[in-house]
Amino acid sequence: MLEAAPGVLCMFSLNERVAIVTGGSRGIGRSCAETLAGLGATVVLTYVKGEAAALEAVQAIESKGGRAKALKADVAVSAEMDELVAATTKEFGRLDILVANAGIAIDGLLLRLKDEDLDALVATNLRGTIASARAAVKPMMKARYGRIVFLSSVVGEMGNVGQTAYAATKAGVIGAAKSIAREYASRNVTVNVVAPGFVDTDMTTHMTDAMKTTLLSGIPLGRTGQASEVAAAVAFLVSNEAAYVTGQVLRVNGGLYM
Ligand code: NAD
Repeated sequence: MLEAAPGVLCMFSLNERVAIVTGGSRGIGRSCAETLAGLGATVVLTYVKGEAAALEAVQAIESKGGRAKALKADVAVSAEMDELVAATTKEFGRLDILVANAGIAIDGLLLRLKDEDLDALVATNLRGTIASARAAVKPMMKARYGRIVFLSSVVGEMGNVGQTAYAATKAGVIGAAKSIAREYASRNVTVNVVAPGFVDTDMTTHMTDAMKTTLLSGIPLGRTGQASEVAAAVAFLVSNEAAYVTGQVLRVNGGLYM
């Protein structure tokens, strides 16, 4: 058994695999980067602003004997996704795995939703996810091997008050994943979605105690999730063993939405 991120024991090996994790400097992305590296993959993790956090994530991986590199790349700028993939294949010779994790949350009731917030959410969460897959699929289809995972959200499937735009982008990535899964199945590229429920990260720290109490009452497992629990689901989907799984949504939400 290999040990991935703290708390994750895993049977899968990702030896020889090269992975990109967008937004891998913190939260769920960092846990995915640590988990995949712990399973043997070389991981390129990207960041936009948090260079120090990204370098710290790389150091944490290297201190456990893993291989990682941090690259600055904004998913909302498509050319930077092409450059990211080019730099990765140039340095490491291949690209097997993309975890399209980078995302932002801007909440607000519909009547107060500003166009600029709607545009920012679409640019990062939806267009950025699709642009990263468009760049990554090129070397994957040539190699006739690829594993792509998009990060959606429970609210993409069930909606949420104050999250019209965020939920729309997260629903959008499910449609995109299913389409890309159909387009590249013949090239042995699988595309799946992980839809987390409420996970303890910087994205959810703004929630008040009252909000948390209401939320917990709707979660059958009675608690919020950990980033490592999302990373474990991602690790399965990017493994060799998940070869017959494509176009699926794997919900990691404590039963909040079934
Ligand atoms: P987080 O805010 O802690 O981390 C998001 C990461 O994305 C950061 O590293 C950030 O730098 C990066 N990022 C943001 N914009 C970027 C851009 N334009 N280009 C590149 N990187 C960018 O969030 P998290 O909670 O770790 O969430 C990770 C993913 O999981 C997101 O897609 C989020 O929507 C999704 N998600 C989170 C939760 C949750 O409860 N935390 C629930 C469901 C889905």
